Amino acid sequence: MGHLIPLVEFANKLLTRHHISATFIIASDGPLSKPQITLLSTLPPAIDYLLLPAVNFDDLPPNVKIETRIALTITRSLPSIRDAVKSVVDRRKVVAFVFDLFATDGFEIATEFKIPSYIFYPTTATVLSLFLYLPKLDETVSCEYREVAEKIQIPGCVPFNGQDLLDPVQDRKNDAYKWVLHHAKRYRMAEGIILNSFKELEPGAMKALQEKENDNPIVYPIGPLIQMGSKSNDDNEESLCLKWLDEQPNCSVLYVSFGSGGALSHDQMIELALGLEMSEQRFLWVVRCPCDTSSATFFGIRDTNDPLAYLPQGFLERTRGQGLVVPLWAPQTRVLAHGSVCGFLTHCGWNSTLESVVHGVPLIAWPLYAEQRMNAVMLVEQVGVALRPKVGENGLVGRVEIVKVVKGLIEGEEGKRVRSRMRDLKDAAANVLGENGSSTKILSELAKKWKSNA
Ligand code: UDP
Repeated sequence: MGHLIPLVEFANKLLTRHHISATFIIASDGPLSKPQITLLSTLPPAIDYLLLPAVNFDDLPPNVKIETRIALTITRSLPSIRDAVKSVVDRRKVVAFVFDLFATDGFEIATEFKIPSYIFYPTTATVLSLFLYLPKLDETVSCEYREVAEKIQIPGCVPFNGQDLLDPVQDRKNDAYKWVLHHAKRYRMAEGIILNSFKELEPGAMKALQEKENDNPIVYPIGPLIQMGSKSNDDNEESLCLKWLDEQPNCSVLYVSFGSGGALSHDQMIELALGLEMSEQRFLWVVRCPCDTSSATFFGIRDTNDPLAYLPQGFLERTRGQGLVVPLWAPQTRVLAHGSVCGFLTHCGWNSTLESVVHGVPLIAWPLYAEQRMNAVMLVEQVGVALRPKVGENGLVGRVEIVKVVKGLIEGEEGKRVRSRMRDLKDAAANVLGENGSSTKILSELAKKWKSNA
């Protein structure tokens, strides 16, 4: 969902502003999830999608990492991707082929059909800078990055501790690292990289990406692209959330959600529940069944159990009136746009972050997997729009720490500081998306270039 949502928004903008239509070619390892189906059902007639036959992973060990699964989903789908491209090329003039960040193995198909290749990068300029720098880092560092004593300097970025770099580079012997490096090395083959961010949010990284001596493809920062609310208004969960928010005082509710795939361990879920209760602040919490690996549900939501069953005993009764707990999914952009919401405890997924920026909602950063630790460091240390709870020696964020950070955001001086900074960033985001804003102009430039290929 984190890749599909901004891509759908990108396609919508190309269509409404520049009359360029799009076809999504979707490779997968199983049936689409309910949120994916819902999202795809909102596509206008000029944007369609081709769902390729699911690839088979029976030969893979069960603990294979998500980046490996995504990369293999693409390589195993190459023949059907080729067929799909052929069917599109036979019908329409194709001006560009836009690839997911782990789909660069399709470049050769684009070349075969003489279509220019672009990458859609759904996360930060900071992580993109790391991707483009990774081949060099790989040559110069021989140990694991987390064992490097000093901080790692990625061009244009805040220095990062090795253990904060994205998940798949944490174990260089694992296939996931090899896949990320494989794709990173191919990035320079792209004609351009479309980036869901904007200069005011990451000025240093953006400048480094565009410096000539770095020999990068042209980078097109066209963000923030966020979904503007789903159309399934009559969905029960959705109306329940929004109705409950309508009944709360202005700027009083902490929204708590860990994205489309994040889940906590059971112990951590209990600490969070008790911390929210003890904070005495209002909250709206999207809960998933606990799991021991924090991204186990990532490739689509396939939970069948009732997540509410894992909450501490009596929690729901005790917090009735103070909080609302919804299982699995909430209409997030509409929640963040609601006047009752005053903070967002987030896993720092990039879509969630941008949605909060656009609506000016300050953050509590609780990273779980993928590149989220890098996002959290950037949001806390560089951008100054998030507070971050400390992880205790037992590896958990304890209930007392949760109370401290929740109260700090909603009532404390530190909350005022991040709130004011987030307001500035909200204005900056509105500016870049305005008629004469940089993101609008860059998208027009790209569309013009593509139309000249027609
Ligand atoms: N989302 C939502 N409702 C939920 C959870 C997630 O609408 O209950 C949406 C959210 O608005 C965002 C996307 O799913 O657009 C999650 O993307 P993100 O990059 O934040 O995290 P990921 O799911 O990729 O980890």
